Amino acid sequence: MLSAVANPARQISPHSLAGVLLPLPLAGLYDYRVGDQPVAMGDFVVVPLGKREVVGVVWGEGRGGVDPAKLKTIHRRLDCRPLPEASRKFVDWVAGYTLAPPGAVLRMAMSVPSALEPLRDLVACRLAATVPAIKLTEARRRVLAAAAELPPLLPADLAREAGVGPAVVKGLIEAGALETTPMAPPPPFAIPDPDHPGPLLSPAQRQVADHLRDSMDKGFSVVLVDGVTGSGKTEVYFEAIAAALAAGRQSLVLLPEIALSAQWLTRFRARFGVEPAAWHSELTDAKRRDTWRAVAAGSAKVVVGARSALFLPYADLGLIIVDEEHDSGFKQEDGVAYHARDMAVVRGQIGGCPVVLASATPSLETMMNVQAGRYARLHLPDRHAGAILPAIGVVDLRKDPPPRGFWLSPVLVKAVEETLAAGEQAMLFLNRRGYAPLTLCRKCGHRLQCPHCTAWLVEHRHAGRMVCHHCGHQIRPPTECPECGAEDSFAACGPGIERIAEEVAHRFPQARLAMMASDTVSGPQAAAELVRRVADHDVDLLVGTQIVAKGYHFPMLTLVGVVDADLGLDGGDLRAAERTHQLLSQVAGRAGRAERPGRVLLQTFQPDHPVMRALARGDRDSFMATEAQARRDAGMPPYGRLAALVVSGPEAGAVDEFCRKMIRLAPSLEGLQIIGPAPAPLSLLRGRHRRRFLIKARRDVGLHQPLRKWLESVVVPSGIRIQVDVDPYGFL
Ligand code: ADP
Ligand code: ZN
Repeated sequence: MLSAVANPARQISPHSLAGVLLPLPLAGLYDYRVGDQPVAMGDFVVVPLGKREVVGVVWGEGRGGVDPAKLKTIHRRLDCRPLPEASRKFVDWVAGYTLAPPGAVLRMAMSVPSALEPLRDLVACRLAATVPAIKLTEARRRVLAAAAELPPLLPADLAREAGVGPAVVKGLIEAGALETTPMAPPPPFAIPDPDHPGPLLSPAQRQVADHLRDSMDKGFSVVLVDGVTGSGKTEVYFEAIAAALAAGRQSLVLLPEIALSAQWLTRFRARFGVEPAAWHSELTDAKRRDTWRAVAAGSAKVVVGARSALFLPYADLGLIIVDEEHDSGFKQEDGVAYHARDMAVVRGQIGGCPVVLASATPSLETMMNVQAGRYARLHLPDRHAGAILPAIGVVDLRKDPPPRGFWLSPVLVKAVEETLAAGEQAMLFLNRRGYAPLTLCRKCGHRLQCPHCTAWLVEHRHAGRMVCHHCGHQIRPPTECPECGAEDSFAACGPGIERIAEEVAHRFPQARLAMMASDTVSGPQAAAELVRRVADHDVDLLVGTQIVAKGYHFPMLTLVGVVDADLGLDGGDLRAAERTHQLLSQVAGRAGRAERPGRVLLQTFQPDHPVMRALARGDRDSFMATEAQARRDAGMPPYGRLAALVVSGPEAGAVDEFCRKMIRLAPSLEGLQIIGPAPAPLSLLRGRHRRRFLIKARRDVGLHQPLRKWLESVVVPSGIRIQVDVDPYGFL
């Protein structure tokens, strides 16, 4: 399919056949007849599909062979920029790699239908040259006074300026007191200034920045910026963006959690004078539309976004940066399962531009590519301005347990006391939302469980709710046990951050406390406000989930306490140790980032676990080497290939029967192993029963070809779904 888009400007003449890709999970291209006007590759076109009209993209020439009686004609071409060639190649590549239908991938690249509508001419209004004699109300007088003073404005804006409703302005236009005039659309994003004075880089930072600048005009390359937390990776990659700006090209920065990026945006503004274009799920429809168009026009020079920003239609992408490249937030599990870091590298290759990966704890995948010589590595071994890395200590919960009913060991409590007494800030980290992960009846042992999932209901005491973290199902906490009828018999088991906050409020009543989790801060604005309060030292103690780990810089924060360092270690996840090490390093990296040195305490029942030892010794590299060896021995990624198939349906029996059919058709190949079917750990999710296959292949065998054949050979009964995940990260 790639060859079909080789010539971007290729036209398809009137009345011949075009292959159109529709943003629907259908197989392949559909042939349509071209009308009286030619179309070109990448054009957005409206075509009939059954009784509907659908917007699709011209992807190539038609293949023919369709019954002429059934062949439909393209209704019309949309008057907007075509989908660029690089974007089309990217869609094909992602579809091929993830084994998703190309249309399902195209849908991600067409996420803003309104951006394809023609630009409306805007009409402004101003005071008429001669105002006719009309009845003047107070509201009308205010509008005319405002119009006399201000430049021409959109009617809605003029109404707002005058403090009146839109009908007043409309009435004045009709009466001829205001006249209308065409207006240019508002300017798109301001262009960041590469020469705006930024911070003075240290010699080590300068060296890395120079290397990045040098690679800017040399086409595709991948560079890992491997720097400890607080070493200034952001300031350094800003220099690569400056170089792209100077060359007039676009840059894309991928962040794992864009909605929480207020501090990042502030720093960008400090370096470049203006804000970049942001791309995330919280944007208004109008903002999404304007951003999409500005990206397509090439006028949005720097885009900072979540993983979906990869699918925007860049006119001239000259640089991609993946910050915190190890972060599992880059992996999308639903729908088209893809890893944004890996796809960013592919996008860079297709567009012929450099890709920069930044992390303090690079993934094993990236390290392997460095060792193989495919990626370059630049190192920043020290924190900026002489700040030292925090000392990491392990609290052995077997020796220093918290008192009954509490969760903080005396060692950690004392450290918090000392920190607060010194007028500094402390942060307690627990990667679990809510009050308690499990609620059970003291009389009969009944556990409150989600009716739709293999999961317990998590108590959220603030909200007065019991919530399933997998499907969102909620109930009010029951007053009597649904099993034995006992009243007030429920006991909360284990802590979530609400419970830690309760303990902290009890122990340190004077401390100003804040909680931060995805469900306690609603939206980017609230998050930005909270982050500002912590940075300004309006908060003494911060209790949070993994969102507090992400990149923040709090100068007065000197103590980080990890309430349950073992939390991520079990659960059969291939990357459990690696991920725990990364997450805890990142949390630890929040401590002592400015003048005052920081310390970190990890509460654990496994002080001898390799992860705890590596963290305590600050010995990332030998930990990663051991991990690498274990994966290599097991033939697991990144040394072997892995894919997961989750088969699900509303009835367990039917799912099992279908799995048995699948196994009969399964490929049998030297170097390829099929494990399963087995019930997935979440064997029931949203009312669907789930069985899982793992397909493991040697690198030289490859799994795409046999997997594709297998999937094509099975006939999926209605109600049953197969979810394909190449390079799975989640194993639930
Ligand atoms: P990292 O991303 O490696 O954790 P950051 O880029 O966040 O590090 O830098 C840590 C802090 O040090 C930030 O507040 C940043 O503004 C500051 N900083 C880094 N380099 C410099 C520099 N050369 N001059 C001034 N401040 C710097
Ligand atoms: Zn549920």
